[in-house]
Formats: sequence, structure tokens, C-alpha cells
Amino acid sequence: MILADFHTHTHLSTDSDALPEAQVKAAIRAGLQYLCFTDHEDIDYPAEYEGPGQFLVDMEQYQKELIPLVERYRDRISLHLGIELGLQPHLTKEIPAFAASYPFAYIIGSTHVVDHMDMYYPNYWEGRSLKESILRYYEKTLENIRLYDCFDCYGHLDYIARYIPEGLGTYVAKDYAEIMDEILRALIAKGKGIECNTAGFKYGLGFPNPHWDVLRRYAELGGELLTIGSDGHKPEHIGYDFQKLPELLKECGFRYYTIFEERKARFLPL
Ligand SMILES: [Zn+2]
Ligand SMILES: [Zn+2]
Repeated sequence: MILADFHTHTHLSTDSDALPEAQVKAAIRAGLQYLCFTDHEDIDYPAEYEGPGQFLVDMEQYQKELIPLVERYRDRISLHLGIELGLQPHLTKEIPAFAASYPFAYIIGSTHVVDHMDMYYPNYWEGRSLKESILRYYEKTLENIRLYDCFDCYGHLDYIARYIPEGLGTYVAKDYAEIMDEILRALIAKGKGIECNTAGFKYGLGFPNPHWDVLRRYAELGGELLTIGSDGHKPEHIGYDFQKLPELLKECGFRYYTIFEERKARFLPL
């Protein structure tokens, strides 16, 4: 049984209304022993969509709301205060400075924005082929991995599969195997991990993010750091479909998954 959800959001994220305590209670109900808050910090998120200042965490509020929960629930669940950093190549001063501004227990690095566009919106996909749009996403992910050290695991590597305009089920992981290999090798060389993000199931993709092929390849290449996260933005999403994972991850070649404490990995058996 998976005991740790290491990718969750609260109302400190622009796209969630969940109260932190509701997320904690949901995690306890789901039988989890570890929960990590990873609210969104996307510096320079494009203002054209919903106006300026979207996806920035109010760190004062973060500390005020989250720190007391750690003590209050200490006997019932281990709470970890992390962050999900949206990486973009032009922010090599701002992002590391933010990462160093608070002693986060765990940091996810994610690609949510490419060329000042969010693939959630149609403008990302306009004026080029599907394959070009997806390759561009992976090229920028690789660039981010090379540019940044201030993260522990890369979030939802094939996140873009969730937003393909042709619809769910049209993403073919093996079409991008070559650049994915470069991404995985770059992460392993840097001692960085990946996550198995079960929001892929929630979105109806039929696989987690990233796809099983990518998880298997990461293990084949010698990668060992794998966190498990629901990417839950609501209490009912905490620990989403975790029961599917142990057997399938073992088939991919993993024997352990990872939690992070003070940015250091600890392994738990699958
Ligand atoms: Zn994300
Ligand atoms: Zn997230």
C-alpha cells in the first residue's frame, strides 16, 4: 500500500479551493501516513489568460496556515511543506531565489508554460503540427532540467498529454521516446527524480503521468527516485487510484518509492 501523497494542492494555489485541513483529513481517511503540500508557484505565468499575479503563493499565508497543522496532526500523519515550481528558462535568477527563501521539505519542478503559453489553452496548439507542439514542450522541459538545480523531482513529465486538442487517448508515448530518453538521462545524471502522478487516471488518460513506458525506462536507465502524487486539488482526489500502483510499478522495475524530508530522499517499499 502506498502511504505517501507527495503532490497536493490547497487554496494557496490559484486553481484550488481546498482548505489545507480538509486535505489533511482526506489523507488520514485514505490511510496515508505522509502528505506533502506542493502548492503552485509559477513566476511570470502569462497575464493574458486571467490577469497578472496568477499561480503565486502568498508565503506569509502559507506559513500561517500550514505550519500549525504539522503539530496539530503529528500523532496522526506526517505533514511535509513543499512547493511545485513552474520552471521557465528565462527565470534562472528568480526561481532559485524563491526556492531558497523558505526551507521547503520537497520541491517539484514542472513545465506548465512554454514560450509564454499554457498548453491548457488553445493558443499553445495553434499554427503548428501536434507533434511540433509536443516536441517543443519536451525541448523546453530538457532545457529547464539543464538550467535548474533547485528541485528534487520533475512533475508529471508528459503533462502535455492531458491537453492534446484531438482528445484523450490520442497521445502515443513511444513517438517521443528519443527526447524522453534525453530527459531521463539528464535527470539521473543530476541525481533528480521523477514522480508517478495519478491525475492521468483522473483525467481519463488510462495511464499516470508519465506513461508506464517512461516510468519503466527511467528504472531501466538506473533511476531510483520516484515519488507518488495525486496532484489532488480537492479532498476527494487525495491518494487517487493509489491502489493500482504497487503491482504496476513493480512490473516497471521499481521496488521502492520515495518521500522527501528536508530535501533528502527516504525510500519506502512498494
Ligand atoms: Zn503541475
Ligand atoms: Zn500540481
